[in-house]
Amino acid sequence: AKALGKSQVRCFALHMNDRVQRRVELEGALRRAIAQDELTMHYQPQLDLQSGRLCGFEALLRWRRGERLISPLEFIPIAEETGLIREIDRYVIRAVFRQVEEWRAEGLDPGEVAINISALSLQEAGIVSYIAAEMTRRRLPPDIIKLEVTESLLMKNVDTAQQVMSELKALHLKWSIDDFGTGYSALSYLRRYPFDQLKIDKSFIDDVNVNPENASVTRAIISMARSLRIAVIAEGVENNEQLGFLVEAGCDQIQGYFYSPPLTAEACRQWLIHRGP
Ligand code: C2E
Ligand code: CA
Ligand code: CA
Ligand code: CA
Repeated sequence: AKALGKSQVRCFALHMNDRVQRRVELEGALRRAIAQDELTMHYQPQLDLQSGRLCGFEALLRWRRGERLISPLEFIPIAEETGLIREIDRYVIRAVFRQVEEWRAEGLDPGEVAINISALSLQEAGIVSYIAAEMTRRRLPPDIIKLEVTESLLMKNVDTAQQVMSELKALHLKWSIDDFGTGYSALSYLRRYPFDQLKIDKSFIDDVNVNPENASVTRAIISMARSLRIAVIAEGVENNEQLGFLVEAGCDQIQGYFYSPPLTAEACRQWLIHRGP
């Protein structure tokens, strides 16, 4: 390879410094954001293909920094590295439970509401009593709350995660396995953990109508889930062709821009008032 010039090396080093500094800044800012309530939730509607109706929402975190809304893709990785994710997960649980309580108090029914939980949070036993206490405080029926965990993260510290998951399952919360198909040994996880739902990753859905391999993997995932009596949802559905494929393949639910982008809590409220679940 061609050797780097001196100025290029210096430039690279500067860039590295920038990155480290930006990371440190971001971590500090994130801590303040949690304390000062700058985190907010959006909710993406999910469509039941059988009934053609709304069946729930996925809660998605946003960080309001001045005028800017920062995507979790930018800060969740840092939060995971620093352990701050545990606080964030609890914040999200609190915020979502409070929101669902508010909707219910107005007589609105949001269906099942899904919350993303990081694998780190599943490794502390305290999360079970935390969730149970918040649920009691908001008087929520546990079976309308669904927890999403990604397949890849389940590989670490399997014992605690499995324990935490079955305890929450015993409290009647639901479990969804997120980004399905992107991790390892999918089948054994499905048998070992108490999943109610499986979410097919967007990467399969993206080109499901033009890529025969992705089409057959998607069909195989759906039929496997059916035989295990696990509901299937497809994420990242953006057009009518994808929808058509998924209906034909027997998928239960979809989520994606085709049905709706993530909405503010107020927009969800309007949806629930005018279109019901
Ligand atoms: P995810 O759980 O796979 O969430 C789906 C992401 O896809 C969301 O991005 C959503 O806005 C986006 N999306 C939904 N429909 C479509 C579509 O039709 N097309 C395209 N191109 N994108 C679509 P978002 O909100 O930026 O979240 C990114 C990731 O950050 C999530 O991926 C999840 O892993 C993580 N995350 C989000 N909220 C939370 C949270 O509250 N707690 C934790 N621990 N992680 C979160
Ligand atoms: Ca998710
Ligand atoms: Ca996902
Ligand atoms: Ca995904």
